[in-house]
Formats: sequence, C-alpha cells, structure tokens
Amino acid sequence: MEYPLMEKFYTLQGEGAYSGSAAYFIRLAGCDVGCVWCDVKDSWEAAKYPKMQIKEIIAEVPEQCTIVVITGGEPAMYDLTELCAALKAEGKRVHLETSGAYKIVGNIDWLCVSPKKFKAPLIENLNNADELKVVVFNKSDLKWAIENAVNTKHNCKYYLQPEWSVEDKMIPIIIDFVKETAKWQVSLQSHKYLKIP
Ligand code: SF4
Repeated sequence: MEYPLMEKFYTLQGEGAYSGSAAYFIRLAGCDVGCVWCDVKDSWEAAKYPKMQIKEIIAEVPEQCTIVVITGGEPAMYDLTELCAALKAEGKRVHLETSGAYKIVGNIDWLCVSPKKFKAPLIENLNNADELKVVVFNKSDLKWAIENAVNTKHNCKYYLQPEWSVEDKMIPIIIDFVKETAKWQVSLQSHKYLKIP
C-alpha cells in the first residue's frame, strides 16, 4: 500500500487534547472538503505529491515518540488499515485528524473529528470521536459546534479553536461561550505561538 505524502515531521501537537505532547506528524495529500479558510490548501491536490511506501513514511519516527498523528489534507479518503497496523507494530499510538466526511478505515487509538460545514461529517464518525474540535471562523460556527456535539459519545472532549486569521475577533466570543456552557474548552494553535511546525 502506498499513500501520497505531503510531509512528515517530528514536533509537538499544538492543538486539542494532546496539545504540548511530542508527536510525529504524517500529512497525507488530497482533500476535497474545500474550507475557504484552509491553511494547507497545498495539500488538496494529491497528484502533486509522490506516493510513498509505508516503510518510507514511518522510517523516521523517533523511538521515544509514542504518538503519531495522521493528518492531511483529508486522510480518511484512504484506507488506513496498513499504515495503522505498521505504526502499531512499532508500538505507536495512532491519532487521526479528520473532517469526518469519509468512512474511517483503520485501527485508530484517538479520533479527532473537526467537522466542516463545507462537507458535513458522517454521523458514525461523530459517534466515535474522542475529540470534537470545531474551528470558529464566525459566530455561526458555535451553532455548528452544538449541532455536531449532539451526536458524540458521553466522554468526548469538546474544543473550540479560533481560526488563525480571525483569532483576535473570535477569542472573546469563544471565551463567553465556554463560560456559558461549561462544556467546551478553548484550543489554541499553540505551535504557531511556539514557532514550530
Ligand atoms: Fe483544509 Fe482540512 Fe478543510 Fe481539507 S478539511 S480544506 S485540509 S481545513
């Protein structure tokens, strides 16, 4: 099995429940969700990137790093069975970051669903999400967050993350919402503050 690989790198997870933890990122290319504010638009065209064997993709995961994040693009466009199996054979925890728009195929240890209005998530993915991370670009995204949370399991973690370009405007709105609901948490893109990938 080969996957179109945009990049792979060792850094800290900047967002959500594992923010601040060392993590190896595997960014698969290809996405048709079409978020207008997407900050990785270069990932959309899978054909621009080489298809790589699993052995090459995971070759540089440091031994001490237990978390491997598969992201994109939209990584669930691919059958991840073999990639997940190879990582787990190396003793890694597999985290997936997805819009939830595609059926997820593969053995995932931590599922982060970041639902997008541009292509709605499958209900089964919301049901299975360990973490629901909603990017807030405007106030109506809070309503979108509530609508998606309805379909999550009881121990799902809920994050609201201001979209980077409108962060100053959205943070006060998110803070008020978090205080009001006492259910959601703020997620900041801490890697951008730390100036790491
Ligand atoms: Fe960009 Fe992710 Fe939206 Fe795809 S799902 S357009 S990669 S933000």
